[in-house]
Amino acid sequence: MESVLQSLLEVAANPSSEVSRWRQRTGGKVVGWLPIYVPEEIIHAAGALPVSLWGGRTEIVRADAHLQGFACSVVRAVLEYGLKGTYNMVDGFIFPSTCDHIQNTSDIWASLFPDRPKFDLVYPANRQSKAAVVYLEQLFADLEQWLEELTGQKVTSEKLRESVKIYNCYRALLADLFSLRSRKPESLSGPEMGQIVKSSLFLEKAEFNRHLSDLLPWLEHRKVKPAPKARLVLTGIMAEPQEILAILDELGGAIVADDLALGARILRAPVREELPLPAALVDRHLRLGPCSTLYDWRKGRGAHVQHLVAEHAADGVIFINMKFCEAEEFDYPVLKAELEEAGIPLLFLEVEQQMAAMGQIRTRLQAFLEVLGKGAGS
Ligand code: SF4
Repeated sequence: MESVLQSLLEVAANPSSEVSRWRQRTGGKVVGWLPIYVPEEIIHAAGALPVSLWGGRTEIVRADAHLQGFACSVVRAVLEYGLKGTYNMVDGFIFPSTCDHIQNTSDIWASLFPDRPKFDLVYPANRQSKAAVVYLEQLFADLEQWLEELTGQKVTSEKLRESVKIYNCYRALLADLFSLRSRKPESLSGPEMGQIVKSSLFLEKAEFNRHLSDLLPWLEHRKVKPAPKARLVLTGIMAEPQEILAILDELGGAIVADDLALGARILRAPVREELPLPAALVDRHLRLGPCSTLYDWRKGRGAHVQHLVAEHAADGVIFINMKFCEAEEFDYPVLKAELEEAGIPLLFLEVEQQMAAMGQIRTRLQAFLEVLGKGAGS
């Protein structure tokens, strides 16, 4: 099982090699999609490999000529990878209308790479409106048609149903992994947990599911670190750079639950298999949330995070803010006020994917654990 775990960590560390291997082995098309919500099942049913493009740790050299320095590090990294050829094995790109940064990057991408197939997945801002259903049905039908033209394969209802099953299984297995993280935080290091989730962004999902279902019983008996002194909930876009998770391990803190876009938000709202397709995919999109990138006047994130704290017996919350992410920055004051009122300690950490110096982050985490009464001398 150790070798299965290592193979997943290797995929997360070198996704391009894995994606190129898949392409050579199958002769299939690779479809890259930007965060956060894309009906991957349709891509899968079209016979393509969906890969999520969430930026990464690369020096920004070329992208700075096209994007302002105050664009978030995720889109700057995506553009940098595009310009330096890392995505050459990607046959088509999907840009959802997640935020201004992604929408603007989509326009810049079109001017830089006019010959590379691209689909703009422009979601309705108001998901509560009745028109949103009709609009989404048409949007997903257009996406399906674009994918069929790209791959040369028909998305039949049988294939779509099969893909939905695979993706629901993926969400259930991730839920089991996250449950293990809360029950037995000592079974995986913080970075290992992050890398397993990340590997799922690049592997064909049925293959990832096989690996994870093999690993889970073995992980129940694994122990790589002492029981944590502090149990924490992490909320934000993603837990990167992953050195933060290693520092937390060193300090005796453990993430026991998360509300991350690249984390537990993935497994929310499984597709209702009893509904007809593709309407069930529309139904899923309407049920997603709470998330800073999905408009909802009810602002349910504070209640959701409080629920996570109670359910997982957490001592405090870390809000990990991707610098210049306006969606998250608009959510923060509301969340802060609600957690303060509930008496839940909160730490705000600002990060960029490319940041190298971790000294300040370490000091702030150390101080937070001291405040919680869970520091080195406690
Ligand atoms: S981190 Fe925020 S600003 Fe950047 S791509 Fe994600 S949602 Fe958009």
